Amino acid sequence: MEKLKIGIMGGTFDPIHNGHLILAEYSRISFNLNKILFIPTGNPPHKNSEDISPNRYRYDMTLLAISTNMNYYLSTIEIERKGVTYTIDTIKYLKSKFEDAEFYFILGADSLYKIHKWKNYEELLSLCNFIVARRPNHNNKKLEKRKDDLNTKYNSSIHILEAPLIDISSTQIRERIRNGLSIKYLVPRSVEAYIEKNRIYRD
Ligand code: NAP
Repeated sequence: MEKLKIGIMGGTFDPIHNGHLILAEYSRISFNLNKILFIPTGNPPHKNSEDISPNRYRYDMTLLAISTNMNYYLSTIEIERKGVTYTIDTIKYLKSKFEDAEFYFILGADSLYKIHKWKNYEELLSLCNFIVARRPNHNNKKLEKRKDDLNTKYNSSIHILEAPLIDISSTQIRERIRNGLSIKYLVPRSVEAYIEKNRIYRD
């Protein structure tokens, strides 16, 4: 029997936007993933918790954003974990829960360039597959080289995703809100309404 293939879309999701959703959907289709688990970060090592929105908001927005796709699931494992939340612990936990599944961690190119700073990254690279999205303004050759170097050195399975380049970022969305600009079509309508209702990112 073929193994269950699970995509993992980890993110601060502050807020989740259509770039994240397009990345997840292209990954699902390109790699025949059975489902995608969206995992909002709890207390991530690379961000100051005072600089990010409360877990409740990021959880709710993620839930709203994925609710129209029956292949998408939301996990609170990082939000509920005490202390700093590292990806290695999340992957180990998921692997112990779903012993027969194969995991694909989905991430953008910027993260791949910084992955050597992640906790136990060598082990992490050996534990699951990685699907990497190109980002606008990135050099394709440089990204291919980064992928090949890591795969050779750590015997990892990093793949580059063929998908449209989407120039949307959470930072850009927060700035637009602060400046009173529309975020229509950058995020799902439900997320836009939630942000408006709760007056998030106003100052
Ligand atoms: P984020 O800002 O919400 O973004 C989530 C992912 O989506 C990132 O990989 C990002 O790529 C990608 N992305 C965003 N917009 C995109 C677009 N328009 N097109 C293509 N890709 C896009 O979350 P994050 O703060 O980067 O965190 C990502 C994950 O890395 C989380 O699960 C976090 O826990 C993990 N992490 C772990 C460690 C560790 O364990 N030590 C350290 C750092 C991060 P880019 O990277 O290119 O922005």
